Amino acid sequence: MTRRFRLEAATRRGEQIAKQYGFERFPIEPTTIAEAENIHIQAKPSDQKGVSGGIIFSGENVGIFYATDIDNDGFQRFTIGHELGHYFLEGHPEEITKIAPMHISRAGFSQGKDFIELEADHFSAGLLMPSRLVKKELLGRPVGLEGILTLAQQAKCSVTAAAIRAAQCSPYPVAIVVSNGDEISYGFLSDTFKSLGKFRNFPRKGDKLPVGTTKDFNETPDNVLRARQACGETTFLDWFDGDKAIELDEEVIGLGSYGYTLTVFSSDNLPDDPDNDEEDEEEARLMDSWTPKFARGR
Ligand SMILES: [Zn+2]
Repeated sequence: MTRRFRLEAATRRGEQIAKQYGFERFPIEPTTIAEAENIHIQAKPSDQKGVSGGIIFSGENVGIFYATDIDNDGFQRFTIGHELGHYFLEGHPEEITKIAPMHISRAGFSQGKDFIELEADHFSAGLLMPSRLVKKELLGRPVGLEGILTLAQQAKCSVTAAAIRAAQCSPYPVAIVVSNGDEISYGFLSDTFKSLGKFRNFPRKGDKLPVGTTKDFNETPDNVLRARQACGETTFLDWFDGDKAIELDEEVIGLGSYGYTLTVFSSDNLPDDPDNDEEDEEEARLMDSWTPKFARGR
């Protein structure tokens, strides 16, 4: 089973659980689900930096704690969803208790994260933002930032997590880039975006931002801090070194005190052949390694 397939399965499992507990509209409440499973939930100020929460398996009893030092509802909900992933996903309790009865989860753009951490993140994203509800929310809205902000608000999730889910569920090409200063922190491209054509610039951690709206925006730190927005235009050719000059909207929003910026590239042109699977093997491998990271809290 490929990593990508396993992550998609984790997302679906999250969606299933939301449905099983009768959530037919936003927001999905992970604490309600935990209570129904007799899981004890505790808010706990963290004494370790970077710890977002954890799960404890003690015989028949299961407990979840989440950090409260980051005062952000979306962050805490995503964390509880993540810990529920460790409870509901096949193999997770066994994998965790093999090492210790307690598992600590860390937030952020951690590199080389354990695979179960990624799986739990994808579970949480599916739980809090089931594709059926995401599609309903995005329907009739213009592709791009506006829909993402509404989704974040309705689902009570971070803007970044909502952006990734919107890109995953949208039939239109959407690319997400999170940046800090003049550098890219990570990128996520929807399948339809990848089908726009061949391109050489994969947005990767540490890459410098190309000239344009996002780079200009980040040059004024106040823009980021005050969650200002900007909008410009670019092309698939210019930003991604693609083989076509397809026009893209480049919408930017500052994510506040963390110093990160979210950029959403979108086009209302559907690719000629969305099922184009003529990628060569190298490219397919590369795509497979592109697993979105739901930076909790941002
Ligand atoms: Zn975890």
